Amino acid sequence: MGSEAVRFAVVATEWFNGEQRHDDGPTTLKVVDGRLAGIARGDHSQLLEGQGWRVERSAFLMPGLVDTHVHLFLDGRPTDQAVRAAHLKQGVDELTEAGRRSARQALACGVTLVRDAGDRHGINNRVREEAKQPGSGMAQVRSGGLGVKRAKRYGAFMAADVGDEVSIRTSVRALAEANDEIKLILTGIIDFDAGRVTDEPQFDLEAARMVVETAHASGLKVFAHCSGEKGLAVAVAAGVDAIEHGFFMNRQTLALMRDKQLAWTPTFCPVHFQWAQPQAVGWSDNTVGNLRRILDRHAEHLLLAHEMGVTILVGTDAGSMGVEHGFAVFEEIDRFAEAGLPIHAVLAAATMAPRRHFGADHATLAVGATFDAVALPASPFEDRSALRRPLRVWSQGIAGTQVPA
Ligand SMILES: [Zn+2]
Repeated sequence: MGSEAVRFAVVATEWFNGEQRHDDGPTTLKVVDGRLAGIARGDHSQLLEGQGWRVERSAFLMPGLVDTHVHLFLDGRPTDQAVRAAHLKQGVDELTEAGRRSARQALACGVTLVRDAGDRHGINNRVREEAKQPGSGMAQVRSGGLGVKRAKRYGAFMAADVGDEVSIRTSVRALAEANDEIKLILTGIIDFDAGRVTDEPQFDLEAARMVVETAHASGLKVFAHCSGEKGLAVAVAAGVDAIEHGFFMNRQTLALMRDKQLAWTPTFCPVHFQWAQPQAVGWSDNTVGNLRRILDRHAEHLLLAHEMGVTILVGTDAGSMGVEHGFAVFEEIDRFAEAGLPIHAVLAAATMAPRRHFGADHATLAVGATFDAVALPASPFEDRSALRRPLRVWSQGIAGTQVPA
């Protein structure tokens, strides 16, 4: 051991490990070479400083946030359709730079890990590799690479077409070599004018099972883009590991999801944006009413899912219109809280639950865990808006640059 260990400590007045709140006096957390090396009750700053440790103080400390559903190469800020279309027409180099910007913005907001839910260029896989560099300034990326869909159906910006059994198995096996998870575009999107999912699922049960079997045989989980009762029934029966969006959820599906331990990422953000700013899309009053009804039902099912014990994950679909990387996590957290979930459950869904679902070595801030953490000026258990004011963000034990205004 030639070089000296990089070490520092944080004394937190209050902290949350991802699962438990600790508000009964200060705690001292020691970080050595990017990992949490010790957690001790009390303020041990004097002793540590005497031993040459650098000590920081924090009103509140918690694990870095996780956004379980983003598209890094898309920019959620422009809400003009023409600007969004022009963005997509850029070359891969420009889009890769956009992906890096998204990952930097996420980290600055306290989001230390994102799961990318698909891009047709594989930019997510490239940014994932770059983000691994300590001090990259980017959120870590768990990548869905390129997903799978049916020809002439929704999802061309994020998935490749698959056809018969041989094509499904060959494609999924090949994607499994590059991706961390397999994204299955199981259904289309909601017809907001009609207020429901009007088209048939892209995959029948047999085909969806093939995707799941092949992914699982390669050691990968499957996350399914899915809304509407028909698609949800296929997703659960096929044994996917997670359902994305899941609009038009029902109690029966939630019971099966709980029993089979499927996770649900309800992604309120893109639909909420279209309800809040209908002029961006030109929705009629009737459609705005549909959007409100869909959001209200979604919130009721989220609360039901929580009460039933379904694994719930915070994911925003950042990159969608009006859904900005990083910042959207605060919005999605607000939607969860407004649905009636206790703040403790909301924060767990944004930290511990996704890490556990992803099979992380440490799902919580525990000794041995990589120090991916956020210092806040106040406790979000008392004031949720404190999440929007991160004072310091650490990724792999390295403190990030300035938080954006
Ligand atoms: Zn998405």
